[in-house]
Formats: sequence, structure tokens, C-alpha cells
Amino acid sequence: MSTIELSHRQDKILQIVKDFGPITGESIAEKLDLTRATLRPDLAILTMTGFLDARPRVGYFYTGKTSNQLLAEKLKKMLVDGHESTPVVINENVSVYDAIVTVFSEDVGTLFVTDAKAHLVGVLSRKDLLRASIGQQKLTTIPVNIIMTRMPNITMCQKSDLLIEVAEKLIKTQIDAIPVVNKTINGFEVVGRITKTNITRVLVELAETGV
Ligand code: ADP
Repeated sequence: MSTIELSHRQDKILQIVKDFGPITGESIAEKLDLTRATLRPDLAILTMTGFLDARPRVGYFYTGKTSNQLLAEKLKKMLVDGHESTPVVINENVSVYDAIVTVFSEDVGTLFVTDAKAHLVGVLSRKDLLRASIGQQKLTTIPVNIIMTRMPNITMCQKSDLLIEVAEKLIKTQIDAIPVVNKTINGFEVVGRITKTNITRVLVELAETGV
């Protein structure tokens, strides 16, 4: 098992519990010639991360889960909430020209389009805008609602959704961004966005923090 994320002392504790568990914190401390208080933070980390389990009056025991299993469990529990970016939203009557300017000024690849009631009605990607640009139309006079991908064909997610499921949607649908929405009585309001960048960031975070 890889234990690269664990300190030397945590490794030693793990080994003791593997060999002698279930074992009390007191007994682990004795074996390491340390006080129970010194060990408390390490035991807390090992329990929180899932390497060890603790039962009252029984003591600590080894869960038998590998770092990989614990990492997968952690990833599968992550929610969209807290990992989303700020959405860039434009009104459906905005011109394609202004949408292109917004892509540059806001530095995003995907724009979400809403109606007068601030409900999601469409999505605009870079290629949608490029496609419109190579046509013969005058970009300042065509509203984005002519060229956008529209409801109900929009892939959406909610803050309470599992992040891994949203990542799978990104792959399956081969799109770059998914709006995070709040369901209201007559539509969806856009409250965030999940892009491939957000998922990449989670990957880097997981590698840095481990299980
Ligand atoms: P690009 O056009 O730059 O390759 P995407 O792969 O995200 O970017 O978009 C491909 C197509 O899918 C575009 O026509 C776009 O309007 C549409 N699209 C993008 N995001 C979504 C979404 N969340 N739901 C439905 N369609 C989308």
C-alpha cells in the first residue's frame, strides 16, 4: 500500500494497529514511547482519512482500505457545491458580436443565455460563435438566440449533484461546460458553471492533499 501522504509516525501507528489491533490509543502510545496526547492528532488524521476505525472501549483497528480505495471513496462523495466557477450569462437578445466581445472580456469559452426572467434558455460555445462569424450575416444585428443551443437540449447540473457524475457528463456529451442551475417554479436560474478546468483543479487538489 502506498502511504506517501502519511508522516513517518503515522506510518508507524498504522503498522502497530495492523499487527496488534484492536488496540487502545494508550497501548499504541506505550509502544511508541509517547504520550496519548502527542498521538491524538495523528490518530485523528488516520481515523478521518479512513485508514483506521475506532470503537469505544475496543480501540483502533485497521480498515484494510488502500490509499487508492480511500481516494476513490473521497472523489465519489464530492459534490458540485464548492467546486464551481462563476457563470458568465448574457441576455438572449444580445448580438453575436457582443457575445464574442464578452468571450474575450470575461475570458471564458462558454456563455449561458437567459431570457428577461433570468431563466436559462441557451448555451453558446466558441465554435457556435465562429460558425456564425464565417457566415454572411451581420454580427451586430443577429441576436444570439438564433445561433445558440437551446432548451430543452441543455445539459445541466445542480450544486447537490455528485461531481464525478458531472465529469462523466462532460465526457459523454463532449462539451466544455455545464451550467449549475437552481430549479425555480418556471425555469432554471444559472448559479455557476463546471468546466473541464474545474475537474482538472479537483484532480490537482486530490494529488496535493491525498486522502
Ligand atoms: P466548442 O464549440 O468550442 O467545441 P463545446 O464542445 O462546449 O465547445 O460545444 C459544442 C456544442 O455543444 C456547441 O454547439 C454548444 O452550443 C453545445 N453545448 C455546449 N455546452 C452545452 C451544454 N451544457 N448543453 C448542451 N449543449 C451544449
